[in-house]
Amino acid sequence: MINVPHKILLVFLSIILFTGCKDDDSDNNADDPKAENRRSLGTSAEELLSDDTFKSMTVELVYAPNYRPKQESIDSFKDFILARVNKPDGVTFIETEISNQPNAPFTIEEIRNIEDLNRTQYTVGDDIAVYVFFSNGSSENDTSTSVTLGTAYQNTSMVVYERTLQQITLDEPEILPILESTTLHHEFGHLFGLVNIQEDDIHPGGDHEDLDHLKHCIIEDCLMYFEANNVTRIMERARSRAQVADLDPLCIADLQAKGGK
Ligand SMILES: [Zn+2]
Ligand SMILES: [Zn+2]
Repeated sequence: MINVPHKILLVFLSIILFTGCKDDDSDNNADDPKAENRRSLGTSAEELLSDDTFKSMTVELVYAPNYRPKQESIDSFKDFILARVNKPDGVTFIETEISNQPNAPFTIEEIRNIEDLNRTQYTVGDDIAVYVFFSNGSSENDTSTSVTLGTAYQNTSMVVYERTLQQITLDEPEILPILESTTLHHEFGHLFGLVNIQEDDIHPGGDHEDLDHLKHCIIEDCLMYFEANNVTRIMERARSRAQVADLDPLCIADLQAKGGK
């Protein structure tokens, strides 16, 4: 029996702006089939959104037994992606079941190592691949007052702390899909470059970037609002309207400027 303090947790979704560069021997990139998928967060925004370079996308969901997200969350994630990307040859979801990964809670380095060992889909030809790990352990950054729900940490890589999501919804399992979907959509928004992650926002100076919470949106109802991730807020949304926050028009305009829909 695991005791988690819930409902009062200040929960945040985090982003990692720069990769650890442990594979920073870029001269060898031409020979490394994984190099395309080992760049900094936000650098593949245009590649993910437009059909200029990549005509299709493969999204790999990786999880240990008992940590597969709800089917409705997967469906909602698909809808979210399809609504934004121009991929004439389609978006394919692949699921890979792995064993429980040891040494939880995980540092982001450990999350990267899990990816190295278990990711099977890499960008090849005109298909761009995205990796999503549904973690069987929490983030090592969690404290008694805050937990991390998800992190976008590389150009095509993100983690959802599924075990944490399951724990904080133990009393209200009907809210789990809203938490899963919000985390998936919000972190993919960071892969799309939101907000102003590579400082190439079409809005001058990233004028809808929240300067108190960088790389997030100032519009309160927006998916990319930093508090879109506050558990109390998500749960209130879930109870009242049972829906995940959408992107506001400014964020959508940024995506369209990079070839999205
Ligand atoms: Zn965020
Ligand atoms: Zn926004």
